[in-house]
Amino acid sequence: MPDLPEELRAEHEKAVAFARSQEETVQQRLDADRPTLTMLVNATQDGKLPRETRMAWLRKLADRINQLAQSLSACATNHCSHCCYAPVSLSFLEAKLIGAAIGVEPKAPPAQTARHAASATPTPLRPKIGHGYAWPCPFLVEDASLPSGKGGKCGIYEHRPMVCRSCLSMAASDKLCEPQPDHLVPLPLFDARVLHLLAAQIGGAEVADIRDFFPAGMAG
Ligand code: SF4
Ligand code: SF4
Repeated sequence: MPDLPEELRAEHEKAVAFARSQEETVQQRLDADRPTLTMLVNATQDGKLPRETRMAWLRKLADRINQLAQSLSACATNHCSHCCYAPVSLSFLEAKLIGAAIGVEPKAPPAQTARHAASATPTPLRPKIGHGYAWPCPFLVEDASLPSGKGGKCGIYEHRPMVCRSCLSMAASDKLCEPQPDHLVPLPLFDARVLHLLAAQIGGAEVADIRDFFPAGMAG
C-alpha cells in the first residue's frame, strides 16, 4: 500500500471493499456469457486473419466485457473523464486503425518510445507525457462549463483504443480517479490483463502515447 494521505487512504479502502462486493456479480455475468466471450477470444487468435481483423475482434471482445461489467462500475454513473488526462498507451497498429476511421494519418511512434510512454525519456522536442489536468488526451472534448475531469466526452468514442475500452473503475465513485500531483493512487480497476495481453500480442512492439500519434487530435 503506497504512502497516501489519510483522506485518500480511507477512500482507497472504501473503494477496494466496494469492488470486492461486486466481484461475484461480475464473475456471474462473465460466466453466463462464456460461449460468446470464448468465440470472440478464438477469433482474435485466428492466425489466418490479418492483424487488423484480429484487432477488430479484440475490440468487440472488450466492448462485450464492458457491456457486462460497466453498470457495476463507477464509470457508469459519474460522467467523468479524469482518466482521459492519464497516459494512453496504444500500438501503432491501433493508431493506424483509428487514423483510418477518422481520416487523420497518425505520426510514426517516436524512436525513444518505451513500452509505456509515461516512462519515456523526456527530450526538448518531446516532453515526458505527464499525468494530470495539464495533459488532456487530444481527442477529449471538454465541457468548458465544468471543472477538468468532470464532464468531457471522447471525440472518437466508437474508435477509441483498447486501453480506454478496457478501463473500468470498480470503485463506487470517481474520487480516486482524480489525478494527484504527488501520489500515484492505486485504483480497483476491472481486471483486464487478458485484454491487454491480447492487445500486445496482436498490436506488436511499436507502442506510444496517443498524444505522440495524434498530437493535434482531429486536426492531424
Ligand atoms: S475510470 Fe474513473 S474517471 Fe474514467 S470514466 Fe471511469 S470513473 Fe470516470
Ligand atoms: S481516446 Fe477518448 S476515451 Fe480514450 S483517453 Fe482519449 S478522449 Fe478519453
